[in-house]
Amino acid sequence: MPARTPVKKNKPKLNGARPFRVGRSRTGLGVFATGPIGKNKYIVEYTGPLLTNAQCDERPDNRYWFEVNSRWTIDGSPRSNVARYINHSCRPNADPMIRDRRIWIKAIRNIRPGDEITYDYGKDHFNAYIKPQGCRCDKCRAKRRKERAEARAANAHKRRRAERAGLA
Ligand SMILES: [Zn+2]
Repeated sequence: MPARTPVKKNKPKLNGARPFRVGRSRTGLGVFATGPIGKNKYIVEYTGPLLTNAQCDERPDNRYWFEVNSRWTIDGSPRSNVARYINHSCRPNADPMIRDRRIWIKAIRNIRPGDEITYDYGKDHFNAYIKPQGCRCDKCRAKRRKERAEARAANAHKRRRAERAGLA
């Protein structure tokens, strides 16, 4: 009987050498491109033990859990899982792709050397872990800066009106 050949058909290709490094970011650690990463390139696999729903029910919730389908979850908490250092962004440059109970982080834009690699963690994770402290991604920081500037402008306007009223 011929030996069964391993199934390879869906295995995406990774870039040869790792085009990224783990470094300091404003939220602690993050993952940064060390070379250009083209759109649609697979960057890194999100790895860790596969847990069944029953196993998940037995242990405390963990922010590195990543549901691959309705029955299986990858526990990405081991430090060997470099992808766990990729931060959330509301305007990300990468996206997780799930294939055959494995997760690959893929570039969805051209990423330049030095750019932080980010993906959108999704609504459930965002509401549970990010929203309570306020999102610190570039998009949300820019939004808050704009809101503060508008509030300052509105206050200045009120002050000027009060001053004019005082002089009249
Ligand atoms: Zn954000």
